Amino acid sequence: MSMGMKCPRDGQDLVTKLHESSPPFHVEICPRCHGIWFDEGELNRVLPELTIRLENMKWRPCTAGETPVDSPRSGTTCETIHLEVGDLTIHRDPATNGHWVDGCELEHVKAFAQTACRETRDHVDYIAREMAELGYH
Ligand SMILES: [Zn+2]
Repeated sequence: MSMGMKCPRDGQDLVTKLHESSPPFHVEICPRCHGIWFDEGELNRVLPELTIRLENMKWRPCTAGETPVDSPRSGTTCETIHLEVGDLTIHRDPATNGHWVDGCELEHVKAFAQTACRETRDHVDYIAREMAELGYH
């Protein structure tokens, strides 16, 4: 489990949330901006349909107009993909294979989940509930 990771956007301590689903997963959520960190393998547990799509896509550096993010796990500058489905932008730490999703992307994650199976939608609902407890609105 992670200890002491800081939000790469605003420096807040990330809060670990463990979901006892089958299979279980954990995510780290920023209580301020509600960005989400997925350690290696966690994105595939939460949103397997998303990782299948990402397999066929090429990660690229952030372009002008995008705000690059440094991995809270390794400090490495992340690579980026923008998905048409859900209009979703996601970042990957090439050093640890973790993923970062900005808090403002939650609605886009939900939109993507609408194309996924019920279990995936339940996972996203769980994350949204945990965000709400942290003050997301
Ligand atoms: Zn934050």
